[in-house]
Amino acid sequence: MLRESVRSLAEAKIAPFAADVDEEGRFPQEALEALVAGDLHAVHVPESYGGAGADALATVIVIEEVARVCASSSLIPAVNKLGSLPVLLSGSEELKKRYLAPLAQGDGMFSYCLSEPDAGSDAAGMKTKAVRDGDGYVLNGVKRWITNAGVSEYYTVMAVTDPEKRSRGISAFVVEKSDEGVSFGAPEKKLGIKGSPTREVYLDNVRIPADRMIGEEGTGFATAMKTLDHTRITIAAQALGIAQGALDYAKGYVRERKQFGKPIGDFQGVQFMLADMAMKLEAARQLTYAAAARSERGDGDLTFFGAAAKCYASDAAMEITTDAVQLLGGYGYTRDYPVERMMRDAKITQIYEGTNQVQRIVMARNLPK
Ligand SMILES: Cc1cc2nc3c(=O)[nH]c(=O)nc-3n(C[C@H](O)[C@H](O)[C@H](O)COP(=O)(O)OP(=O)(O)OC[C@H]3O[C@@H](n4cnc5c(N)ncnc54)[C@H](O)[C@@H]3O)c2cc1C
Repeated sequence: MLRESVRSLAEAKIAPFAADVDEEGRFPQEALEALVAGDLHAVHVPESYGGAGADALATVIVIEEVARVCASSSLIPAVNKLGSLPVLLSGSEELKKRYLAPLAQGDGMFSYCLSEPDAGSDAAGMKTKAVRDGDGYVLNGVKRWITNAGVSEYYTVMAVTDPEKRSRGISAFVVEKSDEGVSFGAPEKKLGIKGSPTREVYLDNVRIPADRMIGEEGTGFATAMKTLDHTRITIAAQALGIAQGALDYAKGYVRERKQFGKPIGDFQGVQFMLADMAMKLEAARQLTYAAAARSERGDGDLTFFGAAAKCYASDAAMEITTDAVQLLGGYGYTRDYPVERMMRDAKITQIYEGTNQVQRIVMARNLPK
């Protein structure tokens, strides 16, 4: 029922703008409004904080169905979870009440600020600092590649509080867009997900009260990594959705397009491609749903499953969308058809929340027993 209702909302209210959002590189405002109206913009927020209380699998299904029509729009529910999960996992009750309620009500989105210009895969090498000053902290630094920066009201920022301790000297904070000293860079000019703004976040002597720290001092990096264990599954969901959109389009196209006097879908060479695409997609889906169940239960093998689902599903999405372009021939290579957008959008799922090389490092360190 959830899938059906999200699919019909996505097809009616989000799909019609997807090509335009990509072409113009503009934020999908129509999608945000439709998702907020349907209470689907941050479904993971528990009911006790005014949210829909969706479990990890339901959240995956929402993201999957939005990504099936518009990957950029699927970053609204996905990044709202990414940005706010540190608060949910490690924040005080007071922080949860203060920030999760407006998120659930659609009054402010959340972004996640871990990466920096010189600290990507090696995120613990970050330079942004938070220095204790009386009853607060003063933050200085640059965060890079921040999804929905400028649009979001709230930012979970990881910053160094003790440079001697490397990852154990990093703490997490909630920073608000309106805090003095917060500003944003120009939107990055990207290959895909062009509707999702990616910008630098500048922190210039940003003074915040000490109660905006998420968890204890020095626990921010551990919270950031624990968050990714859960949210890599949402990137897998995004990959599944993009791949499903491309497969659905290609399936319809091969029935209509005629060459050699018959639909190209009658050729076994084409049928075998579609069979492989559907097989890879279903394998990726099963792994993603298995990971979502582990996320919900908090199982010990979540780290392996989260990384495996993200890595496998994103590699599958890249292959499936590339094959969809192939099945449309020259037409697939043009912006008159949606599959080239889907192929460009799929690429990012192999890069963010840790590249697929990094996922393999994570898996190798956490092999199933
Ligand atoms: C569109 C977009 C949105 C993003 N959104 C966010 C966001 O909201 N918040 C946020 O904090 N970050 C975000 N990111 C950052 C993203 O997570 C990083 O780009 C990613 O982790 C890789 O870091 P990097 O770009 O610095 O690449 P690098 O770390 O410089 O990696 C370059 C290459 O080297 C490889 N490599 C690096 N180390 C190793 C190793 N040990 N073994 C093998 N290979 C290795 C990588 O796999 C990659 O192929 C976003 C990025 C993009 C492009």
